[in-house]
Amino acid sequence: MSILQTEIQFIPGVGPKRAALLNKEIDVFTVGDLLRWYPYRYIDRTRFYYIHEIDNTLAYIQIKGKITAFETFGEGRKRRLVAHFTDGTGFIDLVWFQGIRFIEGKYKLNQEYIVFGKPNLFNGKWNIAHPEIDPFLNESDLPQGLMAMYNTTEKMKNHYLNSKAMQKIIENAFSLIKDRLPESLSSDVITDAKLISFHDAVENIHFPKSPANLKDAQYRLKFEELFYIQLNIVRYASDRKGKLNGFVFHKVGEYLNNFYKNNLPFPLTGAQKRVIKEIRKDTASGKQMNRLLQGDVGSGKTLVAIMCMLIALDNGFQACLMAPTEILASQHYETFTKMLSGMNLRVELLTGSTKKKDREELHAGLQSGEINILIGTHALIEDVVQFKNLGFVVIDEQHRFGVAQRAKLWSKNNRPPHILVMTATPIPRTLAMTVYGDLDVSVIDELPPGRKPVQTLHRFDKKRGELYNFIRKEINSGRQVYIVYPLIEESETLDLKNLEEGYEHIKEAFPEFSVCKMHGRMKPAEKDEVMQKFVSGKADIMVSTTVIEVGVNVPNASVMVIESAQRFGLSQLHQLRGRVGRGADQSYCILITPYELSSDTRKRIEIMTESNDGFVIAEADLKLRGPGDLEGTQQSGIPFDLKIADIVKDNDILFRAREIAEKLIDNDPSLELPEHEVLKHQLKLLGGNRYDWSRIS
Ligand code: ADP
Ligand code: MG
Repeated sequence: MSILQTEIQFIPGVGPKRAALLNKEIDVFTVGDLLRWYPYRYIDRTRFYYIHEIDNTLAYIQIKGKITAFETFGEGRKRRLVAHFTDGTGFIDLVWFQGIRFIEGKYKLNQEYIVFGKPNLFNGKWNIAHPEIDPFLNESDLPQGLMAMYNTTEKMKNHYLNSKAMQKIIENAFSLIKDRLPESLSSDVITDAKLISFHDAVENIHFPKSPANLKDAQYRLKFEELFYIQLNIVRYASDRKGKLNGFVFHKVGEYLNNFYKNNLPFPLTGAQKRVIKEIRKDTASGKQMNRLLQGDVGSGKTLVAIMCMLIALDNGFQACLMAPTEILASQHYETFTKMLSGMNLRVELLTGSTKKKDREELHAGLQSGEINILIGTHALIEDVVQFKNLGFVVIDEQHRFGVAQRAKLWSKNNRPPHILVMTATPIPRTLAMTVYGDLDVSVIDELPPGRKPVQTLHRFDKKRGELYNFIRKEINSGRQVYIVYPLIEESETLDLKNLEEGYEHIKEAFPEFSVCKMHGRMKPAEKDEVMQKFVSGKADIMVSTTVIEVGVNVPNASVMVIESAQRFGLSQLHQLRGRVGRGADQSYCILITPYELSSDTRKRIEIMTESNDGFVIAEADLKLRGPGDLEGTQQSGIPFDLKIADIVKDNDILFRAREIAEKLIDNDPSLELPEHEVLKHQLKLLGGNRYDWSRIS
């Protein structure tokens, strides 16, 4: 057994009690776990401060000087010992609440000491409670290098397991290691990525000999962490692509040709053409397509989907489109029936509110192949929905779908259909490479001609007069307006109240206009009715929650007012903004907030008013929130609580790791070379087989 698997209770200074605490508190069971309990920061022990320099920005300080006097205060349990300490530039108190007798006997007056600890301001005076003190007799007593600081929990601290104690335990663990730690990467990777050895990296991450050594150690360990994620993804992707089990769409036939000749309402943009070509190539290749189509809101993804589905039909297959909400599914259904009118094919809609009788008929039509295209919501992935020969699946606005749901769609055939995942929330490259690691990516980076970028403005909620005049002017010139209120689940009742009040208020403020209202709690039929009223232009103002966030298309709406904009995330704001600017008129997005804003919120608002570019916004969102909080990442199975690497901050290491993983799999797809045994072994240890991402979308 390797030393790394030794239980921590056998490390000197640990024992069964502390071991149990470490198991429970920080999930550390073995020497290996402990060595991977990396410090969260380092303190430069070569740096001394003068007492007169101390201010409240310093977390830890080290000073050199003498104790001039001891004093005790209080009685019994409240007793405390204070040592007056000076370095010639000022005074500071060293304070103890425990072990007082021992301290008094241990330190002497007027001898030089090095004192280390956290300065606190108490009653206008600096002190350090329970400092670390070492005698300073000559130059060789000067501390060297960087000292690691470890995260500990409240419970650990109560049992004297503070950062310093953790360091001691790790030091003891290290002393158990007789040989060097076994290497955890193969030598070709180490050479290629110019890494230091695992042994040196672990040693220097805990006990760095110099800042340069620390940097090398961090690089090595971050690289390794990201490398194994990438190796897993790349390996599965290569495995899938190696199998020739995709349906072959070998021709373009009547459906697409007729559509192109008779039904296409406008010329395709260059980007749409390019993407269709990419998909065409994939679906003719014999390999199963897994493609992510990214295109900003309004870039015309639906049309691409329609045309690709027609290619599937031309080759004798059925196609389906899955949307995240009923509203969106019905809208798609309408678009499809309109676009495909006169083409002699059958398109049907299946949602949660489809009646039982209609459902049965649908099921039969799908199995017999009479239905060519099915559009729907989650209802579409129920087991009872079986196709005759499903060849092409489109998933719209994919960030709303969990991975498991997509996997279910996939398994409707014994051979997988081609899958096109469409998203308007651009995925930053770093995430695309991890969460959606094995999808091929197409991008529509061009809006249809004649669109004017939406103007985004920030207004404070106390000043509505001007805004209302502006809304009036827009409606009087024939436009329509959305007013959106936040809805978050934790306080749904409160938010609905906000919405109701907002609705009443707006009706009062605009008696001359027709106002409608929509929220997620309404029945689908009610929602449909309201939506219809707005789409047809019968209502001028739609007051709503974020149910209209994705996909909804009313080109005549030119103003999007977002109330309490501080409560929305960046990508949500961008999605909402995408509901306007879909026609030829100048459109506006108005973000309303109170005066008082946190710095994060101010940053978000600033980004929104400055950029219309979904990619810029997605990157900013990722930086502000971190990957773990973005939609879709939790279900991804990617461990975002990485131990040392940060997918955003360390993206250049991530790209390098990807490159090297790809090269390696190119040469040795199943990791069969003896030198790659270690990689296979590590993947197994990391539980790599649990996540089979590439199967999923
Ligand atoms: P999204 O990419 O956000 O799903 P849609 O597919 O809903 O965008 O398209 C937005 C609008 O642009 C629709 O009204 C659609 O008819 C229109 N559109 C799509 N492609 C073109 C094009 N090539 N030229 C002009 N208008 C287009
Ligand atoms: Mg869309």
